[in-house]
Amino acid sequence: MTPATDYPDRYDLACAMVKHGARLKLVHMETGIKLPTLRDIYIRLHKKPPPKGQPRQSLRRAFRNVRAYKEGVFFADCLRIAMDGCEPGNRALAILDAYVLYRHTLSGGVVNITTAWLVADRLQSGAIATAQCPHCKATILLNVRNVKIERCAVCKTAPDKNSKPMQRSDGNEYKTLS
Ligand SMILES: [Zn+2]
Repeated sequence: MTPATDYPDRYDLACAMVKHGARLKLVHMETGIKLPTLRDIYIRLHKKPPPKGQPRQSLRRAFRNVRAYKEGVFFADCLRIAMDGCEPGNRALAILDAYVLYRHTLSGGVVNITTAWLVADRLQSGAIATAQCPHCKATILLNVRNVKIERCAVCKTAPDKNSKPMQRSDGNEYKTLS
């Protein structure tokens, strides 16, 4: 991850991320703003010190819960909308926009911004991918759970082993974790 140094105002970005509860290390990586400054911003916005500990790095753990997984799929859809036509330098802003859209649509959503950011990073690196359900066309998020075959969260359709491989949104073949 490279700091978004070309972001028009990285201080605003940092404040927005901190406001949504992003881990300060992640905010630092995205904005390049030093941790003590981010800590001050956190205390000013939340009236308490930031929680200790490392950002959660495992999507498998985060999406062990089915509800969290389904919301993660929804966030991936929000992200696709936000990323459409987004300039490369505004990637962080698009992720933030997607997260705000997710939070506004699903009040009481359980996916935190740090996990959402991880989804965006892993989608970009290709470690995870989205696919479209061959039956109902809903989005499926691949390789984020410990399942051999990821079924559609809406209609439970799984790709038939004997049928044509499921197509991912990027046009590549559907693959499951080995
Ligand atoms: Zn389906």
